[in-house]
Amino acid sequence: MSGFFGCISRKECVTDVFYGTDYHSHLGTKKAGMAFFNGERFVRSIHNIESSYFRNKFESELPEFSGSTIGIGVISDMESQPITITSHLGRYAIATVGRIDNINEIAEQLLKEKIHFAELSDSTINPTEIICILINKGNTFKEGIENVYNAIKGSCSFLILTETCIYACRDKFGRTPIIIGKNEFGYVVASENCSFSNLSYNTVRDIGPGEAIRVSKDGYNSIIEPNDRMQICSFLWVYYGYPSSNYEGINVEDTRYRCGAALARRDELKIDCVAGIPDSGIGHAIGYSNEKQIPYERPFVKYTPTWPRSFMPQNQEMRDLVAKMKLLPNKTITEGAKIAFMDDSIVRGTQLKDNVVKLRECGVKEVHIRIACPPLLYPCTFLNFSTSRSSFDLFARRVIRDIEGTEELTDELLQPYSDPDTPQYSLMINKMKNHLQLDSLQFQRLDDLVETIGLPKCKLCTHCWDNSSYWE
Ligand code: SF4
Repeated sequence: MSGFFGCISRKECVTDVFYGTDYHSHLGTKKAGMAFFNGERFVRSIHNIESSYFRNKFESELPEFSGSTIGIGVISDMESQPITITSHLGRYAIATVGRIDNINEIAEQLLKEKIHFAELSDSTINPTEIICILINKGNTFKEGIENVYNAIKGSCSFLILTETCIYACRDKFGRTPIIIGKNEFGYVVASENCSFSNLSYNTVRDIGPGEAIRVSKDGYNSIIEPNDRMQICSFLWVYYGYPSSNYEGINVEDTRYRCGAALARRDELKIDCVAGIPDSGIGHAIGYSNEKQIPYERPFVKYTPTWPRSFMPQNQEMRDLVAKMKLLPNKTITEGAKIAFMDDSIVRGTQLKDNVVKLRECGVKEVHIRIACPPLLYPCTFLNFSTSRSSFDLFARRVIRDIEGTEELTDELLQPYSDPDTPQYSLMINKMKNHLQLDSLQFQRLDDLVETIGLPKCKLCTHCWDNSSYWE
């Protein structure tokens, strides 16, 4: 994933951009960057944050940006950003969030038009650079932004920093959010509005799907009107959004409480306590606990002094080891207990299996797992999650391949496994439960998940569970 923050103000905004970007650190673990226009030129800095925090890397450089009243910052799981461009539209810097699924197609077309672009160090194409090329093909920023919306399959939200304004452009179907905030001095635009309150900005509104706004010191206006159709990512609320953020006016933590409560209402379990797998499982567990009137306890605690963030090495083995080392079990709570554990989702199943082994070693009598969303059947083609979400690795698909005795999982074959009322679904869940050596396993139903978020299903992307999505 990735996330960005931009600010334009009547006073210096360097610390606002610095802290505002830092509040997006949960969305990426590889690269981070900031760019400012200081009244004379664009100044920019980019760092690798794989083994350090955003704040540690950038803090000593803040004086280099001093005096700037307009700037953007980004946390990225992909390429180095923001990039700065000199074009016929003027100089600008750009930061992007999303995934261009048809990047090779677009690149081929650009090469036919004799347009060149740089390669990244791993010989792949830089998606942010491709977006710049599409923007630069327009006669105006508006035309350029429309070119991006029309060309891209997948999703792309982006901020363009010019000398006098910021263009904030939300993905055509609004899969990722952008929210506008305001204080007495100016405006901010961000992926997460949890970044606003400590910087004294109030939320004004969400930018609409496919909407592009031009933000200046004195106000903002839509240069491209929003679409009627929206497909905002449901997973924001379930997993990767920050608890104190709101998207489309709907709070993440509150939604997680409703998710946990919905699971509890369908559950006949007799247990001693409920727990959340940190961090995102905690909100779901609180909701479950409140609904069932069963104590919420912490049989696992995260060792925060040295593992305070989702440090994510690129090597999968190392990632699994880090996930394991971060969680400390507490035998006083676990010994002889019957516990329901809430988690946001099961991706590959390996981390959950490790946790279950750990719990058994700590004397837990019964381990019941409750998952806040349905089984993941389809990889996300719209956002950049880690490669562990490739279709081959998804736990549910591995189990279905075993059941069906084939490597070829067609949509027709998968369909009954996405319906919680079919025998195929029950068989899949039973196999998962046995593989993970659980006493019971239950997933959220998709209709319940949609109800807990509170938007109509047609406005939500639910592709990872039921393969539904808009492309055009
Ligand atoms: S496929 Fe899943 S993760 Fe990707 S945008 Fe849709 S709901 Fe979100």
